[in-house]
Amino acid sequence: MSTPLIEFREVEFIYPNAKSPALRHINFTVQEGDYAAFHGTSGSGKSTLMSILGLINLPTKGDYLLNGVAVKNLTNESLNAVKNQGIGFIFQNFNLLSRMTVFDNVCLPLTYNNSVSRNQYVDKVNKALDMVGMSSYSDRKPHELSGGQQQRVAIARALICEPSLILADEPTGNLDSSNSAQIYEILAQLNSDGKTICLITHDYQYASQAKSVFTISDGQLSC
Ligand code: ADP
Repeated sequence: MSTPLIEFREVEFIYPNAKSPALRHINFTVQEGDYAAFHGTSGSGKSTLMSILGLINLPTKGDYLLNGVAVKNLTNESLNAVKNQGIGFIFQNFNLLSRMTVFDNVCLPLTYNNSVSRNQYVDKVNKALDMVGMSSYSDRKPHELSGGQQQRVAIARALICEPSLILADEPTGNLDSSNSAQIYEILAQLNSDGKTICLITHDYQYASQAKSVFTISDGQLSC
């Protein structure tokens, strides 16, 4: 069997000053091309798990292997490169910059670390917006869009660096059911196109649509 894209080995995480770990004995693998959902109630440890998957926090015990490499052995520079280019993040609150247009929000990850002008990225940004059905909104500001449209723009932004892994943290937590269904259709399409997806949700209805479903309860994982 090939090396998993993600492997957790006995991962534990304890917040500074906390009495007990937020995550304990976490073991799982996610293969390239998988769609894994992590489901659990509030306080179960989902956000903590997401922060480790997204390299925001490192395990306090155990190992997180990404493409077979223990992330604790990566330099800060490599960790940042993986975070910026290898992983696309989708958040519950969309996290779009209000003063920027849709185009500039989607373009932003490409222009962070270099001086290349945004004009060089027009085709790329339009392609990403097209993928989520938002190409005709590129001159709008986020407040001129519905919540569902803002989340579709945020997905385009997550895709712009062509990451192999998409992390979606409660992506429909602020959306009604019809907008939520559209977002899950897009995630399913991205997975069919070859993207690996890790979804965190409290909603079993959506978690159950994934290929692998894990339940997290009191900081521990079960299948
Ligand atoms: P969920 O995302 O499922 O609601 P969290 O990962 O946010 O759960 O929280 C898991 C546990 O870790 C909870 O007991 C929570 O109180 C604790 N926790 C979360 N963030 C912190 C923090 N910054 N410091 C201390 N404890 C925290």
